[in-house]
Amino acid sequence: MSFEKLGVFKPLLQAIEDLGYKNPTTIQTRAIPLVLQKKDIFATAQTGTGKTAAFALPILQRLRKPQEGRGVRAVILSPTRELSIQIYEDLQAFCKYMDIKTTILIGGKDLEKQRRALRSGIDIIIATPGRLMEHTQKGLYLDDVEIFVLDEADRMLDMGFSKDIRQIHPLLPKKHQTLLFSATFSEKVRKLSKLILRKPAFIETAKKNTTVDTINQIAYHVDTDRKAELLAYLIGSRNFEQVLVFTKTKLSADELYEELQKDGLTCGVIHGDKTKAKRLKTLQQFKAKKIRVLIATDIASRGLDIEHLPYVINYELPAIAEDYVHRVGRTGRAGREGEAITLIDIYEKYDIKDIERLIGQKILKDVVEGFEPDPTIRRKDQDELKLKSEHKRTEKKFVKKKESKKVTAKSLKVSKKKRKTTKRDPK
Ligand code: AMP
Repeated sequence: MSFEKLGVFKPLLQAIEDLGYKNPTTIQTRAIPLVLQKKDIFATAQTGTGKTAAFALPILQRLRKPQEGRGVRAVILSPTRELSIQIYEDLQAFCKYMDIKTTILIGGKDLEKQRRALRSGIDIIIATPGRLMEHTQKGLYLDDVEIFVLDEADRMLDMGFSKDIRQIHPLLPKKHQTLLFSATFSEKVRKLSKLILRKPAFIETAKKNTTVDTINQIAYHVDTDRKAELLAYLIGSRNFEQVLVFTKTKLSADELYEELQKDGLTCGVIHGDKTKAKRLKTLQQFKAKKIRVLIATDIASRGLDIEHLPYVINYELPAIAEDYVHRVGRTGRAGREGEAITLIDIYEKYDIKDIERLIGQKILKDVVEGFEPDPTIRRKDQDELKLKSEHKRTEKKFVKKKESKKVTAKSLKVSKKKRKTTKRDPK
């Protein structure tokens, strides 16, 4: 399949050729024709699947003819500033041979400046729900919107944006196309979809929340302030030639970069404060093995197109358990063996259990000789005993649920067997 065969028109073909895209991804192959046919869509697709282009390309094509005197024609909502910036940058690259104006409305930036930009005649808005709501309260009209996109809808709902979305929706004209993208098919998302989608086409391309069998997963207990030292030791002693390291925040990514540099390791950092050009350059250096350690945050690492990595290290656990799956999915690709190492301190001891529940398997825990945690160190934030009992309770519930599933699976097998024996031989 080619982009041309999907019906993508020339100015966009030229732009994606410049970006080096050769063939459409699965989600693009399925979504582009449907969006061009003005259908509502409910797609479960994770970041990294090429979903931005899956909605952005057909939207740009649909809006190719300028409409004099019309207001905003498409609104793309995303949960975070970082993701909004990424979508904005992608759109800019896609529409470089077109006459389409886009703007980004995110919190933490000057509201008045954004209002001035809006007055210059904008076709597409990329926004976080809260900030878009603020603008509508200050007089932004959405009456001319033809296409409404909810990207990472599950995450938006988890972050508490449900109310904003429900308030924004009635401000759109009755007739408009809605595209809903979500990594998961949760109950909350399903409810929202019922409210805002009209006869949607379903597209399912998401990977399940399970890690690949060929990945060896291990977690090392270590004290917080010895993590960098342990990381450098592991890289050096095990002679890792190319390793991807994840941190939870931009700040710790920068701090770790400084630490590893001091240890004489060549490294690069990819996070939301780096421009796309800078991120791409660092990634290329990493791929060319000019950089041994690539430090990345979850948002920035999304969609990192790295063929096969033997090692991924979680320097810190992600804020969202699902991101663990995204992270370790970077190793052990295409049936090859990979190793995912997680460093856990006293604050993360219980968070890793959420991940184990999500992936449905236990992660082996160990300590590295010489890096054993100091038993006298206690958590400063919460009562550890309380946390322990809380997790025991949820663990018990989880085991019970699993057991009841096993029982039903067993009884199913039995009834199938029974059916087999009673079935008559057709003669
Ligand atoms: P996304 O899932 O939209 O975050 O995209 C993930 C990454 O894949 C981004 O870096 C895109 O630039 C890239 N990408 C998207 N579509 C394609 C394609 N058809 N071919 C090659 N790379 C792509």
